[in-house]
Amino acid sequence: MFSQAFGLVSRDMAIDLGTANTLVYVPGRGIVLDEPSVVAVTQQRDGERKVIAVGREAKTMLGRTPSKIETIQPLRDGVIADFAAAEEMIKHFIRRVQRRSLFSSPRIMICVPASATPVERRAVHEAGLSAGARRVYLIEEPVAAAIGAGLPITETRGSMIVDIGGGTTDIAVLSMGDVIYSHSIRTAGNAMDEAIVNYVRFKHHLLIGSASAEAVKKEQGSALAKANGERVTIHMKGRDLQRGFPTEIELEPQDIAEALSLPIQQIVGGIRQALADVPPELVADLCDSGIYLTGGGALLERLDVRLAQETGVKFKIAEDPLRCVVRGTGMVLEQLDAMAHLLIKP
Ligand code: ADP
Ligand code: MG
Repeated sequence: MFSQAFGLVSRDMAIDLGTANTLVYVPGRGIVLDEPSVVAVTQQRDGERKVIAVGREAKTMLGRTPSKIETIQPLRDGVIADFAAAEEMIKHFIRRVQRRSLFSSPRIMICVPASATPVERRAVHEAGLSAGARRVYLIEEPVAAAIGAGLPITETRGSMIVDIGGGTTDIAVLSMGDVIYSHSIRTAGNAMDEAIVNYVRFKHHLLIGSASAEAVKKEQGSALAKANGERVTIHMKGRDLQRGFPTEIELEPQDIAEALSLPIQQIVGGIRQALADVPPELVADLCDSGIYLTGGGALLERLDVRLAQETGVKFKIAEDPLRCVVRGTGMVLEQLDAMAHLLIKP
């Protein structure tokens, strides 16, 4: 009651703690924070780590820092890999969102991958509490993604969500508000970046950083070479591995598509496996409604077309795929009473 009457000033928050990006949604305000999940620290003389940057600022330091600065990505494969850094990061983001607020201890809702173990879930719960939350609610990520994508998850009709994030691709089938199938594969956005790094290394003897590979993937990458598209030249700078000095090469979009082929094929494998494992009635539903793509990887150009070709099922890109999960988590937080059955039982 109280939180409803004061909905606009309440600082409860929904958090999508992703391997690549962390987003925060505040009821009544919408998405108020969207930053890379990166923390930069220095070692103090007493061995303690001191946080010097979090989020976007810390991401620009990745791969460029002097040896006394360490950049940490506290999440790996969707779960907490460095507890202290995750706690610091959450604390920092809560503080930033709350800056001008009198409410100090928020209730927070965090989503966790469907494949997270009880121990991994408990770690997220603990990290939220030690970051200063009064209460922590957990919800399964595909449920949040489906709600954020506007799917009718309470109907008996099945729906499938494929969330392609940084570290993992999570495939889930939902029916009547429950996750009835979920599987996670460790091939997603980061693996695509690595595939581009390896491609230019072996074909062109050029060493590039993963940040450059990511930029090319986002701006000019494609999951399918265009049949007769206009010629575009992609310039890539790096270090020539034979001669050792900086140089530039030119690539075409089909080179990137070729480089991305292996990770995409692994994602296709995961989707085929899911289609083979769920009950046939549900597969029929999925063929009618299509499979929904969420997460940043859904934005790879023509990925939906490629996946449809490979699996024979329609794919739909959810609206604003990078933000579906946090939106869905926020919607559950806003209707906590009506949607309490979707929470993970403590
Ligand atoms: P996570 O939930 O793991 O934090 P996100 O859903 O935020 O991951 O997605 C991040 C991934 O999406 C990164 O690997 C990023 O490179 C990728 N990505 C973002 N935009 C695009 C794009 N336009 N094309 C291809 N990949 C993209
Ligand atoms: Mg995610």
